[in-house]
Amino acid sequence: MIRVAELIERKRDGSALAPEEIRELVLGYGRDEIPDYQLAAFCMAVFFRGLSREETLALTEAFVHSGSTIDLRAELGRTVVDKHSTGGVGDKTSIVVGPLVAACGVPFGKMSGRGLGHTGGTLDKLESIPGFRVELSKQEFVDQIREAGLAIIGQSPDLVPADKRLYALRDVTATVASIPLIAASIMSKKIAAGAEGIVLDVKVGDGAFMKSLADARILAESMLELGRGAGRAVVCLLTDMDQPLGWAIGNAIEVEEVRALLAGEEAPPDLFSLAIQTVGRVLALSDLDIDAEEGRRRAEQAVEDGSALAAYERWIEAQGGDPALDALPRAPVTRELTAERDGIVSGVAALGLGRVALELGAGRRTKEDTIDHAVGIRCFAKRGDLVEAGQPLAYVYARDVTAAEQALDEMKGVISIGDESPPPRPIVLETLE
Ligand code: URA
Repeated sequence: MIRVAELIERKRDGSALAPEEIRELVLGYGRDEIPDYQLAAFCMAVFFRGLSREETLALTEAFVHSGSTIDLRAELGRTVVDKHSTGGVGDKTSIVVGPLVAACGVPFGKMSGRGLGHTGGTLDKLESIPGFRVELSKQEFVDQIREAGLAIIGQSPDLVPADKRLYALRDVTATVASIPLIAASIMSKKIAAGAEGIVLDVKVGDGAFMKSLADARILAESMLELGRGAGRAVVCLLTDMDQPLGWAIGNAIEVEEVRALLAGEEAPPDLFSLAIQTVGRVLALSDLDIDAEEGRRRAEQAVEDGSALAAYERWIEAQGGDPALDALPRAPVTRELTAERDGIVSGVAALGLGRVALELGAGRRTKEDTIDHAVGIRCFAKRGDLVEAGQPLAYVYARDVTAAEQALDEMKGVISIGDESPPPRPIVLETLE
Protein backbone atom coordinates (compact mmCIF):
# COMPACT_ATOMS: atom_id res chain seq x y z
CA MET A 1 0.00 0.00 0.00
CA ILE A 2 1.43 3.42 -0.94
CA ARG A 3 2.03 6.00 1.76
CA VAL A 4 -0.21 8.78 0.46
CA ALA A 5 1.01 11.45 2.91
CA GLU A 6 4.55 10.89 1.67
CA LEU A 7 3.51 11.33 -1.97
CA ILE A 8 1.70 14.57 -1.10
CA GLU A 9 4.78 15.77 0.77
CA ARG A 10 7.09 15.00 -2.18
CA LYS A 11 4.79 16.77 -4.63
CA ARG A 12 4.44 19.70 -2.22
CA ASP A 13 8.24 20.01 -2.15
CA GLY A 14 8.51 19.96 -5.94
CA SER A 15 9.66 16.40 -6.69
CA ALA A 16 8.28 14.33 -9.54
CA LEU A 17 6.36 11.16 -8.68
CA ALA A 18 6.82 7.86 -10.50
CA PRO A 19 4.05 6.85 -12.96
CA GLU A 20 3.13 3.83 -10.75
CA GLU A 21 2.70 6.15 -7.77
CA ILE A 22 0.26 8.36 -9.68
CA ARG A 23 -1.62 5.31 -10.91
CA GLU A 24 -1.91 3.90 -7.38
CA LEU A 25 -3.12 7.25 -6.09
CA VAL A 26 -5.90 7.54 -8.69
CA LEU A 27 -6.96 3.91 -8.59
CA GLY A 28 -6.83 3.80 -4.78
CA TYR A 29 -9.07 6.87 -4.72
CA GLY A 30 -11.44 5.14 -7.16
CA ARG A 31 -11.60 2.09 -4.86
CA ASP A 32 -12.40 4.36 -1.87
CA GLU A 33 -9.13 3.43 -0.16
CA ILE A 34 -7.87 7.03 -0.16
CA PRO A 35 -10.06 9.80 1.30
CA ASP A 36 -11.10 13.02 -0.44
CA TYR A 37 -8.99 15.20 1.87
CA GLN A 38 -5.76 13.53 0.77
CA LEU A 39 -6.62 13.87 -2.94
CA ALA A 40 -7.60 17.50 -2.31
CA ALA A 41 -4.19 18.15 -0.73
CA PHE A 42 -2.51 16.39 -3.65
CA CYS A 43 -4.42 18.55 -6.18
CA MET A 44 -3.36 21.70 -4.32
CA ALA A 45 0.27 20.55 -4.38
CA VAL A 46 -0.08 19.96 -8.15
CA PHE A 47 -1.72 23.37 -8.53
CA PHE A 48 1.44 25.04 -7.20
CA ARG A 49 4.13 22.59 -8.36
CA GLY A 50 2.69 21.33 -11.67
CA LEU A 51 3.24 17.89 -13.21
CA SER A 52 5.97 16.73 -15.57
CA ARG A 53 5.03 15.29 -18.98
CA GLU A 54 5.47 11.76 -17.65
CA GLU A 55 3.32 12.49 -14.61
CA THR A 56 0.57 14.09 -16.75
CA LEU A 57 0.58 11.06 -19.06
CA ALA A 58 0.40 8.69 -16.07
CA LEU A 59 -2.52 10.66 -14.63
CA THR A 60 -4.36 10.59 -17.97
CA GLU A 61 -3.83 6.84 -18.35
CA ALA A 62 -4.96 6.20 -14.77
CA PHE A 63 -8.16 8.20 -15.45
CA VAL A 64 -8.82 6.21 -18.65
CA HIS A 65 -8.26 2.89 -16.86
CA SER A 66 -10.53 3.83 -13.96
CA GLY A 67 -13.59 2.87 -16.05
CA SER A 68 -14.66 1.37 -19.35
CA THR A 69 -13.78 2.68 -22.83
CA ILE A 70 -15.48 2.63 -26.24
CA ASP A 71 -13.75 1.36 -29.37
CA LEU A 72 -15.65 3.22 -32.08
CA ARG A 73 -13.44 1.86 -34.88
CA ALA A 74 -14.26 -1.73 -33.90
CA GLU A 75 -17.96 -0.82 -33.66
CA LEU A 76 -18.27 1.18 -36.88
CA GLY A 77 -15.25 0.23 -38.99
CA ARG A 78 -14.56 3.92 -39.71
CA THR A 79 -12.77 6.89 -38.22
CA VAL A 80 -15.20 8.69 -35.92
CA VAL A 81 -14.34 12.34 -35.22
CA ASP A 82 -14.98 14.66 -32.29
CA LYS A 83 -14.27 18.22 -31.24
CA HIS A 84 -13.84 19.69 -27.80
CA SER A 85 -13.83 23.23 -26.51
CA THR A 86 -12.44 24.30 -23.15
CA GLY A 87 -15.59 26.40 -22.68
CA GLY A 88 -16.66 29.98 -22.95
CA VAL A 89 -19.59 32.36 -23.23
CA GLY A 90 -22.02 31.82 -26.12
CA ASP A 91 -20.05 28.80 -27.31
CA LYS A 92 -22.50 26.71 -29.29
CA THR A 93 -19.91 25.55 -31.84
CA SER A 94 -20.37 21.79 -31.21
CA ILE A 95 -24.07 22.01 -32.09
CA VAL A 96 -23.11 23.64 -35.40
CA VAL A 97 -20.11 21.44 -36.15
CA GLY A 98 -21.83 18.06 -35.50
CA PRO A 99 -24.51 18.42 -38.21
CA LEU A 100 -22.04 20.00 -40.68
CA VAL A 101 -19.63 17.09 -40.29
CA ALA A 102 -22.46 14.54 -40.55
CA ALA A 103 -23.78 16.33 -43.67
CA CYS A 104 -20.33 15.82 -45.22
CA GLY A 105 -20.66 12.06 -44.67
CA VAL A 106 -18.32 11.69 -41.68
CA PRO A 107 -19.53 10.05 -38.42
CA PHE A 108 -19.43 12.40 -35.42
CA GLY A 109 -19.68 11.14 -31.83
CA LYS A 110 -19.29 13.36 -28.81
CA MET A 111 -19.78 13.22 -25.08
CA SER A 112 -20.38 16.69 -23.69
CA GLY A 113 -20.66 18.40 -20.35
CA ARG A 114 -22.97 20.76 -18.53
CA GLY A 115 -22.25 24.40 -17.87
CA LEU A 116 -21.00 25.69 -14.56
CA GLY A 117 -20.63 29.34 -13.56
CA HIS A 118 -20.43 31.80 -16.44
CA THR A 119 -19.64 29.13 -19.08
CA GLY A 120 -22.54 27.40 -20.78
CA GLY A 121 -22.69 23.66 -21.47
CA THR A 122 -23.69 21.95 -24.70
CA LEU A 123 -25.99 19.50 -22.87
CA ASP A 124 -27.97 22.32 -21.23
CA LYS A 125 -28.43 24.01 -24.59
CA LEU A 126 -29.59 20.77 -26.21
CA GLU A 127 -32.02 20.14 -23.35
CA SER A 128 -33.85 23.35 -24.22
CA ILE A 129 -35.18 21.38 -27.21
CA PRO A 130 -38.41 19.70 -26.04
CA GLY A 131 -38.00 15.91 -25.79
CA PHE A 132 -34.24 15.85 -26.46
CA ARG A 133 -32.53 13.00 -24.55
CA VAL A 134 -28.90 13.46 -23.55
CA GLU A 135 -28.68 10.23 -21.56
CA LEU A 136 -28.21 7.43 -24.07
CA SER A 137 -26.62 4.08 -23.26
CA LYS A 138 -23.27 3.30 -24.88
CA GLN A 139 -25.01 0.97 -27.33
CA GLU A 140 -27.58 3.64 -28.24
CA PHE A 141 -24.70 6.12 -28.74
CA VAL A 142 -22.94 3.77 -31.17
CA ASP A 143 -26.17 2.80 -32.97
CA GLN A 144 -27.15 6.42 -33.43
CA ILE A 145 -23.77 7.36 -34.90
CA ARG A 146 -24.18 4.43 -37.30
CA GLU A 147 -27.75 5.31 -38.29
CA ALA A 148 -28.03 9.12 -38.02
CA GLY A 149 -24.32 9.86 -38.51
CA LEU A 150 -24.21 11.93 -35.33
CA ALA A 151 -24.72 11.71 -31.58
CA ILE A 152 -23.96 14.18 -28.79
CA ILE A 153 -24.70 12.79 -25.34
CA GLY A 154 -23.84 13.23 -21.67
CA GLN A 155 -20.79 11.62 -20.17
CA SER A 156 -21.50 7.94 -19.62
CA PRO A 157 -21.09 7.26 -15.84
CA ASP A 158 -18.76 4.29 -16.30
CA LEU A 159 -16.36 6.25 -18.53
CA VAL A 160 -13.47 7.87 -16.62
CA PRO A 161 -15.25 7.80 -13.22
CA ALA A 162 -12.05 8.84 -11.38
CA ASP A 163 -11.98 12.13 -13.31
CA LYS A 164 -15.63 12.74 -12.54
CA ARG A 165 -15.01 12.40 -8.80
CA LEU A 166 -11.78 14.33 -8.85
CA TYR A 167 -13.28 17.14 -10.93
CA ALA A 168 -16.04 17.59 -8.33
CA LEU A 169 -13.36 17.73 -5.63
CA ARG A 170 -11.27 20.26 -7.61
CA ASP A 171 -14.35 22.38 -8.11
CA VAL A 172 -14.77 22.90 -4.35
CA THR A 173 -11.05 23.18 -3.50
CA ALA A 174 -10.06 25.92 -5.99
CA THR A 175 -7.85 23.54 -7.98
CA VAL A 176 -9.64 23.49 -11.35
CA ALA A 177 -7.34 26.04 -12.99
CA SER A 178 -4.24 23.85 -13.16
CA ILE A 179 -2.98 23.20 -16.69
CA PRO A 180 -1.84 19.56 -16.21
CA LEU A 181 -5.03 18.69 -14.30
CA ILE A 182 -7.18 20.24 -17.05
CA ALA A 183 -5.18 18.51 -19.82
CA ALA A 184 -5.43 15.07 -18.18
CA SER A 185 -9.12 15.56 -17.36
CA ILE A 186 -10.13 16.57 -20.89
CA MET A 187 -7.94 14.15 -22.80
CA SER A 188 -8.82 11.11 -20.67
CA LYS A 189 -12.48 11.66 -21.56
CA LYS A 190 -11.71 12.14 -25.25
CA ILE A 191 -9.53 9.02 -25.36
CA ALA A 192 -12.06 6.84 -23.49
CA ALA A 193 -14.98 7.98 -25.68
CA GLY A 194 -13.30 6.46 -28.74
CA ALA A 195 -13.04 9.12 -31.49
CA GLU A 196 -9.80 8.84 -33.47
CA GLY A 197 -9.74 12.35 -34.96
CA ILE A 198 -10.09 15.18 -32.44
CA VAL A 199 -10.07 18.95 -32.96
CA LEU A 200 -9.47 20.85 -29.73
CA ASP A 201 -10.61 24.43 -29.33
CA VAL A 202 -8.74 26.14 -26.50
CA LYS A 203 -10.47 29.40 -25.69
CA VAL A 204 -8.31 32.38 -24.74
CA GLY A 205 -9.38 35.57 -23.01
CA ASP A 206 -11.49 37.19 -20.37
CA GLY A 207 -14.36 34.64 -20.59
CA ALA A 208 -12.12 31.54 -20.70
CA PHE A 209 -10.08 29.40 -18.28
CA MET A 210 -6.94 30.45 -20.13
CA LYS A 211 -6.57 34.22 -19.90
CA SER A 212 -3.32 34.48 -21.89
CA LEU A 213 -2.14 33.09 -25.22
CA ALA A 214 1.01 31.80 -23.49
CA ASP A 215 -1.00 29.64 -21.02
CA ALA A 216 -3.33 28.49 -23.79
CA ARG A 217 -0.32 27.30 -25.81
CA ILE A 218 1.02 25.28 -22.86
CA LEU A 219 -2.39 23.63 -22.33
CA ALA A 220 -2.76 22.96 -26.07
CA GLU A 221 0.72 21.40 -26.39
CA SER A 222 0.06 19.18 -23.42
CA MET A 223 -3.30 17.96 -24.80
CA LEU A 224 -1.80 17.38 -28.26
CA GLU A 225 0.93 15.25 -26.75
CA LEU A 226 -1.52 13.21 -24.65
CA GLY A 227 -3.83 12.63 -27.63
CA ARG A 228 -1.02 11.59 -29.94
CA GLY A 229 0.47 9.36 -27.24
CA ALA A 230 -2.88 7.51 -27.26
CA GLY A 231 -2.74 7.11 -31.05
CA ARG A 232 -5.27 9.84 -31.90
CA ALA A 233 -4.93 12.45 -34.66
CA VAL A 234 -5.27 15.80 -32.90
CA VAL A 235 -5.21 19.46 -34.00
CA CYS A 236 -5.68 22.41 -31.67
CA LEU A 237 -7.15 25.82 -32.45
CA LEU A 238 -6.56 28.67 -30.02
CA THR A 239 -9.62 30.91 -30.33
CA ASP A 240 -10.81 34.25 -29.03
CA MET A 241 -12.95 34.41 -25.88
CA ASP A 242 -12.39 38.08 -25.03
CA GLN A 243 -15.90 38.71 -26.32
CA PRO A 244 -18.82 36.24 -26.46
CA LEU A 245 -19.01 33.91 -29.44
CA GLY A 246 -21.93 34.71 -31.73
CA TRP A 247 -24.84 36.87 -30.61
CA ALA A 248 -26.88 34.63 -28.29
CA ILE A 249 -25.93 33.75 -24.71
CA GLY A 250 -28.38 31.38 -23.07
CA ASN A 251 -29.83 28.04 -24.06
CA ALA A 252 -32.90 28.05 -26.35
CA ILE A 253 -31.73 31.29 -28.01
CA GLU A 254 -28.35 29.68 -28.75
CA VAL A 255 -30.08 26.70 -30.36
CA GLU A 256 -32.14 29.15 -32.43
CA GLU A 257 -28.91 30.82 -33.60
CA VAL A 258 -27.41 27.45 -34.57
CA ARG A 259 -30.52 26.49 -36.52
CA ALA A 260 -30.48 29.78 -38.44
CA LEU A 261 -26.80 29.33 -39.32
CA LEU A 262 -27.33 25.77 -40.56
CA ALA A 263 -30.36 26.91 -42.57
CA GLY A 264 -28.23 29.53 -44.36
CA GLU A 265 -30.09 32.41 -42.70
CA GLU A 266 -28.50 35.45 -41.08
CA ALA A 267 -25.86 34.29 -38.58
CA PRO A 268 -23.01 35.84 -36.58
CA PRO A 269 -19.86 36.01 -38.73
CA ASP A 270 -17.52 34.97 -35.86
CA LEU A 271 -19.53 31.81 -35.14
CA PHE A 272 -19.85 30.99 -38.85
CA SER A 273 -16.12 31.44 -39.39
CA LEU A 274 -15.12 29.34 -36.36
CA ALA A 275 -17.57 26.55 -37.24
CA ILE A 276 -16.39 26.35 -40.86
CA GLN A 277 -12.72 26.37 -39.86
CA THR A 278 -13.33 23.69 -37.22
CA VAL A 279 -15.24 21.49 -39.66
CA GLY A 280 -12.42 21.90 -42.22
CA ARG A 281 -9.94 20.60 -39.64
CA VAL A 282 -12.26 17.81 -38.47
CA LEU A 283 -12.84 16.55 -42.04
CA ALA A 284 -9.09 16.63 -42.70
CA LEU A 285 -8.67 14.12 -39.83
CA SER A 286 -11.38 11.80 -41.19
CA ASP A 287 -11.26 8.99 -43.76
CA LEU A 288 -12.18 11.45 -46.55
CA ASP A 289 -8.54 12.08 -47.50
CA ILE A 290 -9.00 15.82 -48.04
CA ASP A 291 -7.18 18.85 -46.64
CA ALA A 292 -8.67 21.46 -44.31
CA GLU A 293 -9.32 23.91 -47.16
CA GLU A 294 -11.39 21.38 -49.08
CA GLY A 295 -13.09 20.53 -45.76
CA ARG A 296 -14.09 24.17 -45.31
CA ARG A 297 -15.43 24.30 -48.87
CA ARG A 298 -17.58 21.21 -48.26
CA ALA A 299 -18.90 22.66 -44.99
CA GLU A 300 -20.00 25.87 -46.75
CA GLN A 301 -21.58 23.81 -49.51
CA ALA A 302 -23.58 21.82 -46.90
CA VAL A 303 -25.08 25.06 -45.59
CA GLU A 304 -25.91 26.27 -49.10
CA ASP A 305 -27.52 23.07 -50.39
CA GLY A 306 -29.68 22.41 -47.29
CA SER A 307 -27.93 19.20 -46.24
CA ALA A 308 -26.64 20.81 -42.99
CA LEU A 309 -30.16 21.65 -41.81
CA ALA A 310 -31.39 18.20 -42.87
CA ALA A 311 -28.58 16.56 -40.83
CA TYR A 312 -29.50 18.74 -37.83
CA GLU A 313 -33.18 17.78 -38.01
CA ARG A 314 -32.37 14.07 -38.46
CA TRP A 315 -30.09 14.16 -35.43
CA ILE A 316 -32.48 16.05 -33.11
CA GLU A 317 -35.31 13.67 -34.03
CA ALA A 318 -33.06 10.62 -33.52
CA GLN A 319 -32.45 11.82 -29.94
CA GLY A 320 -36.19 12.34 -29.33
CA GLY A 321 -36.28 16.14 -29.79
CA ASP A 322 -38.56 18.40 -31.80
CA PRO A 323 -36.34 20.33 -34.26
CA ALA A 324 -39.00 22.94 -35.15
CA LEU A 325 -38.08 26.53 -34.34
CA ASP A 326 -41.39 27.28 -32.64
CA ALA A 327 -40.98 24.30 -30.28
CA LEU A 328 -38.26 26.20 -28.38
CA PRO A 329 -39.26 27.95 -25.13
CA ARG A 330 -39.41 31.75 -25.12
CA ALA A 331 -38.97 34.15 -22.22
CA PRO A 332 -41.99 36.36 -21.40
CA VAL A 333 -40.11 39.69 -21.00
CA THR A 334 -37.79 41.38 -23.54
CA ARG A 335 -35.84 44.59 -22.92
CA GLU A 336 -33.46 46.53 -25.18
CA LEU A 337 -30.06 48.02 -24.27
CA THR A 338 -29.11 51.04 -26.36
CA ALA A 339 -25.81 52.88 -26.87
CA GLU A 340 -25.40 55.92 -24.63
CA ARG A 341 -23.10 57.74 -27.05
CA ASP A 342 -21.66 57.70 -30.56
CA GLY A 343 -18.36 55.86 -30.89
CA ILE A 344 -16.59 52.59 -31.53
CA VAL A 345 -17.17 49.46 -29.44
CA SER A 346 -13.84 48.95 -27.66
CA GLY A 347 -14.79 45.83 -25.73
CA VAL A 348 -17.64 43.43 -24.95
CA ALA A 349 -16.57 41.61 -21.79
CA ALA A 350 -17.35 37.91 -22.19
CA LEU A 351 -17.08 37.22 -18.46
CA GLY A 352 -19.36 40.16 -17.62
CA LEU A 353 -22.07 39.09 -20.07
CA GLY A 354 -21.73 35.47 -18.95
CA ARG A 355 -22.38 36.58 -15.38
CA VAL A 356 -25.44 38.61 -16.37
CA ALA A 357 -26.84 35.56 -18.23
CA LEU A 358 -26.13 33.48 -15.11
CA GLU A 359 -28.07 35.98 -12.95
CA LEU A 360 -30.99 35.77 -15.38
CA GLY A 361 -31.10 32.00 -14.76
CA ALA A 362 -29.44 30.77 -17.97
CA GLY A 363 -26.61 29.06 -16.07
CA ARG A 364 -25.96 27.36 -12.76
CA ARG A 365 -23.82 28.39 -9.82
CA THR A 366 -23.73 24.93 -8.29
CA LYS A 367 -24.30 21.55 -9.88
CA GLU A 368 -27.69 21.30 -8.13
CA ASP A 369 -29.12 24.53 -9.64
CA THR A 370 -31.77 24.23 -12.34
CA ILE A 371 -31.58 26.22 -15.56
CA ASP A 372 -34.22 28.44 -17.14
CA HIS A 373 -33.80 27.46 -20.79
CA ALA A 374 -35.78 30.41 -22.16
CA VAL A 375 -33.82 33.34 -20.72
CA GLY A 376 -30.60 34.97 -21.93
CA ILE A 377 -29.08 37.82 -23.89
CA ARG A 378 -28.61 38.63 -27.55
CA CYS A 379 -25.68 41.01 -27.89
CA PHE A 380 -25.15 42.31 -31.42
CA ALA A 381 -22.31 44.67 -30.48
CA LYS A 382 -18.85 43.39 -31.41
CA ARG A 383 -15.44 44.90 -30.80
CA GLY A 384 -14.68 47.51 -33.48
CA ASP A 385 -18.33 48.23 -34.46
CA LEU A 386 -19.26 51.86 -35.12
CA VAL A 387 -22.34 52.78 -33.08
CA GLU A 388 -24.62 55.79 -32.70
CA ALA A 389 -26.29 57.01 -29.52
CA GLY A 390 -29.68 55.30 -29.12
CA GLN A 391 -28.78 52.36 -31.35
CA PRO A 392 -29.82 48.93 -29.93
CA LEU A 393 -26.76 46.98 -28.76
CA ALA A 394 -28.36 44.03 -27.02
CA TYR A 395 -31.64 42.42 -25.94
CA VAL A 396 -32.35 40.81 -22.59
CA TYR A 397 -34.86 37.92 -22.38
CA ALA A 398 -36.04 37.48 -18.81
CA ARG A 399 -38.59 35.68 -16.66
CA ASP A 400 -39.92 38.95 -15.17
CA VAL A 401 -39.53 42.73 -15.38
CA THR A 402 -37.36 43.03 -12.24
CA ALA A 403 -34.83 40.51 -13.56
CA ALA A 404 -34.77 42.26 -16.95
CA GLU A 405 -34.20 45.73 -15.45
CA GLN A 406 -31.45 44.41 -13.20
CA ALA A 407 -29.72 42.74 -16.15
CA LEU A 408 -29.87 45.97 -18.20
CA ASP A 409 -28.28 47.82 -15.32
CA GLU A 410 -25.43 45.33 -14.99
CA MET A 411 -24.80 45.33 -18.75
CA LYS A 412 -24.01 49.04 -18.92
CA GLY A 413 -20.40 48.56 -17.80
CA VAL A 414 -19.91 45.44 -19.88
CA ILE A 415 -20.05 46.97 -23.36
CA SER A 416 -17.47 49.77 -23.63
CA ILE A 417 -17.65 52.48 -26.26
CA GLY A 418 -14.60 54.64 -27.04
CA ASP A 419 -13.25 56.85 -29.81
CA GLU A 420 -10.55 54.61 -31.24
CA SER A 421 -10.69 51.29 -33.03
CA PRO A 422 -9.32 48.45 -30.89
CA PRO A 423 -6.65 46.27 -32.57
CA PRO A 424 -8.27 43.57 -34.73
CA ARG A 425 -8.33 40.06 -33.21
CA PRO A 426 -9.33 37.15 -35.48
CA ILE A 427 -11.57 34.39 -34.14
CA VAL A 428 -8.86 31.75 -34.68
CA LEU A 429 -5.73 33.17 -33.09
CA GLU A 430 -3.42 30.22 -33.79
CA THR A 431 -3.51 26.65 -35.01
CA LEU A 432 -1.23 24.00 -33.51
CA GLU A 433 -0.84 20.89 -35.61
N1 URA B 1 -13.08 20.62 -18.52
C1 URA B 1 -12.81 19.36 -18.10
O1 URA B 1 -13.38 18.40 -18.57
N2 URA B 1 -11.89 19.21 -17.12
C2 URA B 1 -11.23 20.24 -16.57
O2 URA B 1 -10.41 20.03 -15.70
C3 URA B 1 -11.52 21.55 -17.03
C4 URA B 1 -12.46 21.70 -18.02
